[in-house]
Amino acid sequence: MKLQQVRILGKPVHLVDMEQAVSYLRSQTSAGHKEFVLAMNPEKIMKAREDDQLSRIIEKKATLLIADGVGVVLAGKVRGLPPIPRVTGVGLFEELTAAAAEDGSSIFLYGAAEHVVERAAEVLKERYPQLTIAGIQHGYEKDEELVVSRIQEARPDYLFVALGSPAQEKWISRNLKRLPVKLAMGVGGTFDVLAGNVKRAPQWAQKWGVEWLYRFVKQPSRAKRMLNLPKFMWLVLFTRGNN
Ligand code: UDP
Repeated sequence: MKLQQVRILGKPVHLVDMEQAVSYLRSQTSAGHKEFVLAMNPEKIMKAREDDQLSRIIEKKATLLIADGVGVVLAGKVRGLPPIPRVTGVGLFEELTAAAAEDGSSIFLYGAAEHVVERAAEVLKERYPQLTIAGIQHGYEKDEELVVSRIQEARPDYLFVALGSPAQEKWISRNLKRLPVKLAMGVGGTFDVLAGNVKRAPQWAQKWGVEWLYRFVKQPSRAKRMLNLPKFMWLVLFTRGNN
């Protein structure tokens, strides 16, 4: 199945809304294709401009590139591209776990601090008592082979990796071939949100697309990373062409 895509500063993003993303993943995985979902946002686009490995993963390895950041949607508007639907990573994670609970697919949560991933699994179990959690693994285990063998033993259908970016994308790219999963997705700080460690921005901030501002106020340590946002917008506004 071929997805339509546009390019923002040279990097591809697929034109799918949430419903299309979920149905695409369902049909691809049931046809035996291994899917690699990657959430695109301005920060990742900026990183990929300087990180060839991340750039290659985005171009060649990921099979579904969702527009996670409102900056990506805005950039598309500024450049006069076809509308880019926003599909947040947290939102797609929630849709996929709900779908898994419904159709009996199993999931594996890998990443975040031990108490966070444990709590995230509990929250999911409370939400979907019938959900099969094939395993969990915190994100501070240095022995990659050990983590891989745990996932191989657990044989989950969906693997969610929360190591932050670009570590999670690189981890998935290195290991996906030998993992018996149908789908792998990098989910950043999603387990922290689920565990109630980091609150998701309030509704108004989500609605207006300013979750980044909320996070900036709540976690000033992210300020340096956020400098990439104005740089991204500047490039979108004042440079021409794709790059
Ligand atoms: N993390 C991890 N192992 C590491 C570094 C980070 O498991 O070696 C986890 C961290 O605990 C957090 C997530 O990765 O749960 C990164 O969250 P962040 O919000 O920074 O993700 P991003 O903004 O990159 O999507």
